Amino acid sequence: MRELISNASDAIDKLYFRSLTDSAVKLTKDDFKIELTVDKANRTLTIEDNGIGMTREELEKNLGTIARSGSMDFKAENQAEGIDIIGQFGVGFYSAFMVASRVTVTSRAFGEEEAFQWESRGAEGYTITPAEKAEAGTKVTLVLKEDTTGENGAEGENYSRFLEEYTLSDIVKKYSDYVRYPIRMERTKSRQKPKPEDAGEDYTPEYESYTEVETVNSMVPLWRRDKKDVTAEEYNEFYKQKFMDYTDPARVITTRTEGTATYNALLFVPGRAPYDYYTREYEKGLQLYASGVLIMEKCADLLPDHFSFIKGIVDSQDLSLNISREMLQKDSQLRLIRTSLEKKIKSELSAMKNNEREKYEEFFKHFGRQLKFGCYEGYGAHSELLKDLLLFYSAKEKKMVTLEEYTAAMPEEQKYIYYASGDSADRLAKLPAAELVLDKGYDLLLLTEDVDEFCLQILRKYGEKDKEKEFKNVSGGDLGLESEEEKKAAEAESEAAKPLFEAMEKALEGKVKAVRLSTRLKSHPVCLSSEGPLSIEMEKVLSAMPNPDGPAPKSEKVLEVNGSHPVFEVLKAANEAGDADKLNRYASLLYNQALLIEGLPIEDPVAYAQAVCELMK
Ligand code: ADP
Ligand code: MG
Repeated sequence: MRELISNASDAIDKLYFRSLTDSAVKLTKDDFKIELTVDKANRTLTIEDNGIGMTREELEKNLGTIARSGSMDFKAENQAEGIDIIGQFGVGFYSAFMVASRVTVTSRAFGEEEAFQWESRGAEGYTITPAEKAEAGTKVTLVLKEDTTGENGAEGENYSRFLEEYTLSDIVKKYSDYVRYPIRMERTKSRQKPKPEDAGEDYTPEYESYTEVETVNSMVPLWRRDKKDVTAEEYNEFYKQKFMDYTDPARVITTRTEGTATYNALLFVPGRAPYDYYTREYEKGLQLYASGVLIMEKCADLLPDHFSFIKGIVDSQDLSLNISREMLQKDSQLRLIRTSLEKKIKSELSAMKNNEREKYEEFFKHFGRQLKFGCYEGYGAHSELLKDLLLFYSAKEKKMVTLEEYTAAMPEEQKYIYYASGDSADRLAKLPAAELVLDKGYDLLLLTEDVDEFCLQILRKYGEKDKEKEFKNVSGGDLGLESEEEKKAAEAESEAAKPLFEAMEKALEGKVKAVRLSTRLKSHPVCLSSEGPLSIEMEKVLSAMPNPDGPAPKSEKVLEVNGSHPVFEVLKAANEAGDADKLNRYASLLYNQALLIEGLPIEDPVAYAQAVCELMK
């Protein structure tokens, strides 16, 4: 149906274009149509057009060739093995033989007096005989195959369904809705009979059925219409109906490109994430049309993963109707379209971010996670494209900011882009190290999603060339906040406490990499920081995931001690008194406390509880 209707539409196109310059064509645009008729008794389905038609030679050349060509021989030879080349590639006109045992084409070419009839039962060949036809155009009649029953009573092929009105109208709506000419067929309808004059009180209305010829397709594809001629309502309705969503899209993207890749696209950024969006069940893809005819429901190759939430339609004149899925994957045209769509989507999202910030933040709530994954994926292969679309929560501004906004607001001397990572923004803002950064007048990004830190780690730096700033986790390493003097003073103090820290390191051997004097603690006695590429938060994320190859990697932890906390004096005294037992116990207690504060599990909760009780005695 799809193939035959598109042929009819092509034939009308040809005559229509001719009508623009040739006054012999008496038809105007509104006269053109494609008609479908069924004859149940004779099991025929007819598709008729009033297009350019075919001469005898054309019938022979256009329809005759395949019947003799290699592909039909191939079909005949391979039928035993069940290889159906027509089914595989849907070779245009010949796909009629998928459902028909006999096909008759009666055609009269425009400007010719004679008509001819081409007839074939498929592989055996064809005949051409003179015929009668009043007007130019082509009439293709399919005699449908008999229905089959499958093995063991399973359902076989039901060809009769192509004689049903609703099957036909469904197919037309699905595959040929945007064919430019009306596709008309007779529809059976029901109406109330007029109420008789003498109807009594108890009259019940009677109904009768009647038929009416109706146009089944809607003809003008929305994406071919000028954006200014389409209302927002129309776009929204189209989106909701086509993509089965009940919320309006957040943004409508239209594009029309000519040149290397000629296509029209109508894309939508959904207003919310589908319930299965972040699961394996979700399938990305755009509907792909070739000149208004649907060729693929969900073409995944048109969308990169990081924009997998986009819905929409791509219509290209450069694609063949009969392209198979495997061929599509290798199609260079398709790759060009994909690249240009990716650019377009990026620029539309940027525009939304810059001009409709509230809307963008709402969008980001739903799909920001996917953009962050996209940044991280493939060792950051797409991070350049995506980094400026990201938003993070700013502790200072108390709202979502872009990396660009963060760096633009940085004081001259600020060395790093600071962030804290954990599961609640409230808790993060209260971290002693976070307070230190904020007290300096620096901003701090609060990361609460598991993917956040991985994403920043891949980016590593952000900023204009030569002025790039590294990202810095406030609970890791040197924060670069102190002046030279402060640093010197801290070093001296640290040096003095060296014997104590060595003793504690020994007590916590295998658990921490080092014990150090902290520069980030205010009221707490201890905290954990990390060294190396893996932060404590990342360790948590990794160990929460399935780890088939043994335990997840661990971060390198440093136990930091607050030099101005009374506990520090107690530790120093114990070490100076040579009370190794006390020092070991206290070191272990403090280490476990630090784990708890970080939200990490402690190894032996029972021993910890007992040790605390000991202290209370
Ligand atoms: P394609 O449409 O890709 O060219 P088809 O196998 O569908 O391949 O059709 C072969 C040719 O037969 C068409 O190119 C066209 O010239 C001719 N043809 C098919 N159907 C019609 C029709 N309804 N009216 C006029 N010509 C037709
Ligand atoms: Mg065709």
